[in-house]
Amino acid sequence: MVSLHEKLGKVYDEVLHRNPGETEFHQAVHEVLESLGPVVTKHPAYTDAAVIRRLCEPERQIIFRVPWVDDQGHVQINRGFRVEFNSALGPFKGGLRFHPSVYLGIVKFLGFEQIFKNSLTGMPIGGGKGGSDFDPKGRSDGEIMRFCQAFMTELYRHIGEYTDVPAGDIGVGGREIGFLFGQYKRITNRYESGVLTGKGITWGGSLVRTEATGYGTVFFAGEILRTRGDSFDGKRVVVSGSGNVATYAIEKLQQLGATVVACSDSSGYVVDEKGIDLDLLKDIKEVRRARISEYADQRDGARFVNDSSIWNVPCDIALPCATQNELDEADAKTLAGHGCTIVAEGANMPCTPEAIRLFGEAGIVFAPGKAANAGGVATSALEMQQNASRDRWSFEYTEDRLAETMRGIHDRCLATADEYEAPGNYVAGANIAGFTQVADAMLALGV
Ligand code: GLU
Repeated sequence: MVSLHEKLGKVYDEVLHRNPGETEFHQAVHEVLESLGPVVTKHPAYTDAAVIRRLCEPERQIIFRVPWVDDQGHVQINRGFRVEFNSALGPFKGGLRFHPSVYLGIVKFLGFEQIFKNSLTGMPIGGGKGGSDFDPKGRSDGEIMRFCQAFMTELYRHIGEYTDVPAGDIGVGGREIGFLFGQYKRITNRYESGVLTGKGITWGGSLVRTEATGYGTVFFAGEILRTRGDSFDGKRVVVSGSGNVATYAIEKLQQLGATVVACSDSSGYVVDEKGIDLDLLKDIKEVRRARISEYADQRDGARFVNDSSIWNVPCDIALPCATQNELDEADAKTLAGHGCTIVAEGANMPCTPEAIRLFGEAGIVFAPGKAANAGGVATSALEMQQNASRDRWSFEYTEDRLAETMRGIHDRCLATADEYEAPGNYVAGANIAGFTQVADAMLALGV
C-alpha cells in the first residue's frame, strides 16, 4: 500500500478504527486519500476545518428490516440500507443495489465514491447509496414487487426530491424502480417524480437514462483516444458484465466501429470473434433474464468459458463493467502482455489497487469509475431537471448533453492532473477535482 501524507494517514487510521471490517470502504477511502497529499499542502484551510475527516463520516446511516412474503407464503427477512454520505452540493443522490453481497461496507464504499463522481458531473447533487442483501436471482415478478414495496415502506420517510434521490444499481433496474415509485406514491399520496430516477419514459423518466452509464463510459474512453489522435475504429474491446452498463457500452462501441469480442456474467464469459450479437445478448439478459452460457448455445462460433478470467481474452481496450475488485494484478499483467492500452471502469471500483499500480508501470491509460462511469448519475440529474420543469427532452438532445458532460469531466480531470503535477493521471485528476468542489462547498457552509 502507498504511504499517505502524514495528516491523511491520521484520517485513514480514524476511518479504520471507526469502521472495522468494512474493507471495501477502507479501499475506496485510501484510494482517494492517496491523491490528496498535494491538496492539503496547498490548502491548509481544508485541514483546519477538518473537511476530509468530516467527508469520511457519512452524514446519516440508515439500517432497516425488510420483511416480505415469498410465493410459498413464507416470511422472509432482509436488511435494507441507505447511507446519506454528503449533501454539500445538493440532495443525496445515488443508486440502490440489491445483491446478497450487500452489507454496510459495500454501501459506504459506493456512497463515498458517489460524492466525488457526482461532484465531477458539475450537477447540483450530493452523494449517497443504498440497497439490500436481497438476492433477486430466481425470484418471480410478484416476489420482486412485494420486496420492493416492503423496502419502500421504510425508505419513503427518508427520501424526497429535495432530500435524497435514489436510483438503480446492480439488481435494480426499470422494473424495480417502478415498484418502488408506485409504493412511494401510494404511501405519500404525492406524484413526486423527482424522488427517484431511472423511471420509465411514460411516467417521468428520461430518454437515454437506461443507456447512459454504458454510453458515458464509451464517450469517456473516446475522449482518451481523441487526445491521442486515435478512435474506436477497428479496435478490439473486451467488456466484462452483461447487465445494463455492459450492454449499452457494447451498443455504443459497435456504433463507433469497435469489435466487442467478449462479455460475461457471474457464471463465466463468452468469446465471439465475429463481435457480440447485441440483439441476442439483450434477448437473453433483458427479456429472458437467463445465463450468458445460452449465448454460446445459440450463436455459431461463439464459446462459453467458466474456468478462467475474461481478461485473458486479448484486446486493445478493456472496460470492466461487472462489479468491484473483478480485475486483479494478475489480470492487469495479462492485459499488459497482450498490448492493451486503455482500461476504463464502467463498474464502481472493479480494478484492485495492485492492478491500477500495474497499469501505471505498464503505460496503460487508466480511467477510474468515478470519472468514466459518471454518465449514469449525470443523466439522472438531467432526469431531475426534466421532472422539475415538467418537460421531456428528445433522445438526441439528451445524448448530446451526456456526451458534453463526459467531455467536460475528461477535460477537468486532465487539467487538474496538470495543475497538481501529475500529467495524464486520471486518478489524481478525478479525485482532486471531485474533492475540491465538495470541500469548498463544505467550507462555505460552515461546520
Ligand atoms: N448507480 C449508478 C452509479 O453508480 C447511478 C446512480 C444514480 O443515477 O443516482 O453511479
